[in-house]
Amino acid sequence: MKYVIEKSPFYMKKYKAAGVTPNDIKTMDDLRSVPFTTKQELLKSQEEHPIFGDFICIRPEEAVRVFQTSGTTGVPLKIPFNTKDWFKICFDQFAHFLYGYGIESTDVVFFPFTYGTFIAWWGIQAAMEQLGVMIVPGGGQTSDARVKSIIDWGATVVCGTPTYIIYLGELAQKMGIDLPNSKVRVVITAGEPGAQVPATKKLVEKLWGAKNYDDIGSTEITNFGYECVMQKGTHLNEGMFLPESLDIVSGKPAAEGEVGELVLSNLFCESEPLLRYKTKDLVRFNYKKCDCGRTFLRMDGGVLGRADDMFTLGGVNIFPSAIENFIRGIPIFSNEYQLVIPKQGSGKRLAIRVEPASPEVSDEQAKEAVKQLAENILYHIKVTANVEAVAPGSLPRFEGKAKRLIRES
Ligand SMILES: [Zn+2]
Repeated sequence: MKYVIEKSPFYMKKYKAAGVTPNDIKTMDDLRSVPFTTKQELLKSQEEHPIFGDFICIRPEEAVRVFQTSGTTGVPLKIPFNTKDWFKICFDQFAHFLYGYGIESTDVVFFPFTYGTFIAWWGIQAAMEQLGVMIVPGGGQTSDARVKSIIDWGATVVCGTPTYIIYLGELAQKMGIDLPNSKVRVVITAGEPGAQVPATKKLVEKLWGAKNYDDIGSTEITNFGYECVMQKGTHLNEGMFLPESLDIVSGKPAAEGEVGELVLSNLFCESEPLLRYKTKDLVRFNYKKCDCGRTFLRMDGGVLGRADDMFTLGGVNIFPSAIENFIRGIPIFSNEYQLVIPKQGSGKRLAIRVEPASPEVSDEQAKEAVKQLAENILYHIKVTANVEAVAPGSLPRFEGKAKRLIRES
C-alpha cells in the first residue's frame, strides 16, 4: 500500500477517500477495510489518462513489453511490464507452473500462438526459455501445418485453449495422424475451465494420449494458478499473491468448499500492482495439504466460471462448465454445444443444443442420448432443460475462447 500510494495517483486518491492508511492494516481482517480494485476503474483510468492510466506505478517508458486484454466485453485494457516484472516476476510465477507440471529441460514445447498483444503463452514461453526448455514457435501456421509440426519436431508439450486443443486433436484424427502415440506427454490448457471439467480433461487426454494440466492467469493480475501432477485441483501461488474468496451476495469470506469470487492482490508486481482486485472468477478454496506436498491452497475445479457467466434458474446458481461436463460425458454427442438462457421470470426453460458426433449416429441413438442428458441435468443440477439435437457439424466451431452462451433478452 505504501508503494502504490507513493507511485500512483489512482491509489493515493482511492485510499484517501476511503480513509485507510498502510498503518491501519495489521491483520487479515483489517484488509477488508481496503477498497476493491475493479476492471471498470482501470478502464476509466486509461480513458481519462491515456495510454496506461494513473494506476500504474512506473513511468510508461520503463515498460519493456505491453499487452492488452482481449476486450471481448468492451474496450481492451492495456498493461505494461517493466524489466523486473517481465524477466524476473513473470519467470518466478511460471517456474511454479513448470515444476507443477513436471516439465524438464529435455522437453520440447510447441506454442501455437501468433505475434501480438494477447498475453497468452508469451510469459510461460519466456520462462521456459530461461529454464533451458526447447521452444518450437507455432505461430503463423494453419492448424493442419501445426499438427504436422508437432510431429516433425517431436514436441512433448503443447499449449492452447481447451477448445483449440480439442479442435487440433480431432483434426489430427481426420488427417490420419496418431497423436496418442506421438511424443506429446503434456498438454497445458488455459483461458477456459476445460482442464478442470472432468469430462473435458478426459477427452483432451484421450485425444492426445497425454496429461492435461490447468494454467490460470490474466493479463492484468498475471499468473497465479497451476495444476500439479496429482491432478487434484489447481494450486494458487500464495507465495506471490494474496488470495481471498468472497461470497457473491454477502461479500464476506466464503467458507472452505463454498463458491466465492476470487479477489487477488499481486504482491510482487512493480508496474501495475493490483490490490484486492475483483477477478470475477468463481472458485472453491480447499486448504487441505495436497498429496504432492505443496501447502498452497487449491481451487477445487479450477475456475468454475466467470461471475458474469453464472446464471440463475429457479433459484439454482448454474455454471456452464457443469453442463459441459454432462454433455461431454455422453460420447454420442460432439464436443460443441450451445446454451440458451431464458430471461429471468420468463418461465421459459433452459435450452441446450447438442449435435451427434457423426452422421452415422442413428435418430434412435440420438433420441436416447438427449433423454439421458436431460435426466442427468435434472438429477444433478435440479433444472429441467429442453435438450435438442441439431444436425452434426451445424454448431459454430471456435479457435480461441469459445462463445457458447446465448442470453435471451
Ligand atoms: Zn498438488
